[in-house]
Amino acid sequence: MSSFTVSDIMSRNVVTSDPDDEVSDAMNRMSEIGVRHLPVVENGELIAIISIRDFQVICDHLGKLAKTDSLTGLANRREFMKLLEAEFSRFNRFDSPFSVAMLDIDFFKNINDEHGHNAGDTILVRFADIFRTQLRAYDVAGRLGGEEFAILFPNTSLEGAVTACEHLREAIKKIALFADTGLISCTASFGVTMVVPEFAKPECILKFSDELLYQAKEQGRDRIIGASYQEHAAQVLNVANG
Ligand code: GH3
Ligand code: MG
Ligand code: MG
Repeated sequence: MSSFTVSDIMSRNVVTSDPDDEVSDAMNRMSEIGVRHLPVVENGELIAIISIRDFQVICDHLGKLAKTDSLTGLANRREFMKLLEAEFSRFNRFDSPFSVAMLDIDFFKNINDEHGHNAGDTILVRFADIFRTQLRAYDVAGRLGGEEFAILFPNTSLEGAVTACEHLREAIKKIALFADTGLISCTASFGVTMVVPEFAKPECILKFSDELLYQAKEQGRDRIIGASYQEHAAQVLNVANG
């Protein structure tokens, strides 16, 4: 029998990875030459073999982390803006309506000051729990930053969104967190509006909701100001006070 070396029958180039390689680079190298397993070599020694499936699991996980606010598990600002942009395009192409609410916890600084930052964090998590249990599956709640949230209500009128926010406001008022420092309760203020053709870009609808939220704060907090952009001055629905 004639003798062959391994290299005679190798059909693919060898590709290995270093532990410090970027995951995306390693995956690109694997897909370039069509291998499903990648030896990881450190100082000339084989230390692991990673499968393409392992990489996929990691990438899915990293993808999820990039979209999620780590404290609350809600969409982060970037992800919320992406979904808002998609909804805005749907409105422009198919005239499919949607509403947006912005809400901000009232006097949250006092909660941190009186009960500590961890208690404040727990309140933020309670808010996220309320959104998850009260909103419909296709509504999107995002944490825009600090103690400020936004909610996207696809296919929903202004009145519908205000009603949904009223349920949220009621649930928020029922939060009762027992801390060593005492019982913590809180309220939130809301600004709600519906998309109209006058909004040139998605940021405009958030800006207008934010203005309404500011009015809700000015008028005494723990309330919802819902208004249509066109009839801003005339039709301010100041609902559910007190
Ligand atoms: P207002 O009713 O006007 O909204 O008053 P406020 O006290 O809620 O608003 P302010 O902007 O004065 O304070 C916001 C506070 O939110 C201050 C900041 O330390 C706190 N905060 C922001 N992010 C976090 C967080 O991730 N965790 C905690 N515990 N606190 C946070
Ligand atoms: Mg606040
Ligand atoms: Mg704030």
